[in-house]
Amino acid sequence: MSSIRQADSEIWNALQAERGRQVDGLELIASENYTSAAIMEAAGTVLTNKYAEGYPGRRYYGGCENVDVIENIARDRARELFGAEHANVQPHAGSQANMAVFMSVLKPGDTILAMDLAHGGHLTHGMHLNFSGKLYKTAHYGVREDDHLIDFDQVAALAQEHKPKLIIAGASAYPREIDHAKFAEIAASVGAMLMVDMAHYSGLVAAGIHNSPVPVADFVTSTSHKTLRGPRSGFVLCRSEHAAGVDRSVFPGIQGGPLMHVVAAKAICFGEALQPDFRAYGEQIVENARVLAETLLQGGLRLVSGGTDNHLMMCDVTTVGLSGKIAEHALDAAGITVNKNMIPYDQRKPMDPSGIRIGTAALTTRGMKQDEMKKVGSWILNVLAKHDDPASIQAARAEIAEFAGNYPVPGIG
Ligand code: PLP
Repeated sequence: MSSIRQADSEIWNALQAERGRQVDGLELIASENYTSAAIMEAAGTVLTNKYAEGYPGRRYYGGCENVDVIENIARDRARELFGAEHANVQPHAGSQANMAVFMSVLKPGDTILAMDLAHGGHLTHGMHLNFSGKLYKTAHYGVREDDHLIDFDQVAALAQEHKPKLIIAGASAYPREIDHAKFAEIAASVGAMLMVDMAHYSGLVAAGIHNSPVPVADFVTSTSHKTLRGPRSGFVLCRSEHAAGVDRSVFPGIQGGPLMHVVAAKAICFGEALQPDFRAYGEQIVENARVLAETLLQGGLRLVSGGTDNHLMMCDVTTVGLSGKIAEHALDAAGITVNKNMIPYDQRKPMDPSGIRIGTAALTTRGMKQDEMKKVGSWILNVLAKHDDPASIQAARAEIAEFAGNYPVPGIG
């Protein structure tokens, strides 16, 4: 890192500030985590210098013998970890993983059926401003108004009505375990293919805690940087029959050279997730989320679906007289990082919605457990209650920085 300091003080200063933010604060963004030092290092290696268009053994560039070894290890480990017939580890991110699957089976104008963004879906699941909403006709299912669980009657009815070519399961802001088999049944009933985007909960699937979509879905996509705790990136899993189509779709379909430094980091991530202690990590994430959710419920916040059975919870902060935007700002000022989020049937606007989304994957990586979650929950409730009192917020910030300092961030300290 000292060469960055010498070469570029502006970037160095911002980096140092970010390092401080990550160490001193409580990271509760549900899509973030802290990688191991080995993963971080791999992402900064000489592999960033290498072009490797193509696939191991079939490259369009010379000098690929070492990156071939790395990509083969990454693919093998991904297959082993998730029990998949085929893995493509080249997508630069989750959005590219999804795009690769769409491009491999859909033509522009085909219909997809996916979860509504306003109910917890992702932009790439057919949002009108995203490529997915522009290229494909989209029908959206959501959650029921009374219990906030996926409305499978609606999924089945929409599938009958629209006859989609591809049904997408998976979400960015859904606090419950998803019944992949039920989606597969509905897809089969209308002759649709099923893609499960497990970006958020792939770490829980890897740990064997949530049901795996791999046996029942035609395609499974994921990011590697959320509960799976790898570098910022993506990957696709599929059956052998779809392997050539997916590979062609990633390269040359939508990408050029893969980021081999990130492929190496993904290989290490899959290797870490294959270790027995990853299961304990996954169990602790879920237990921490349960305890944090209980603490927040007791403090008067309403939670979408009444709780959580994964790594995240969606909190309606209007029940304590705030909006998501005000809550996010107040918590940020105290060193607690969350994101404002729409909640199902939200009457407010996306830039100032009713909710905040909270996840426990990152704090669990720092070694925090149930007792710590109770403390974190109390801070959240206090900060929300005193959101317009700068002295209280500053006092909370100081306490939090001291507390957080006791829980090392891997590779940073
Ligand atoms: N799919 C889901 C369900 C997500 O939550 C996300 C990211 O938040 C993505 C895909 C896209 O990932 P990326 O931001 O890496 O493109």
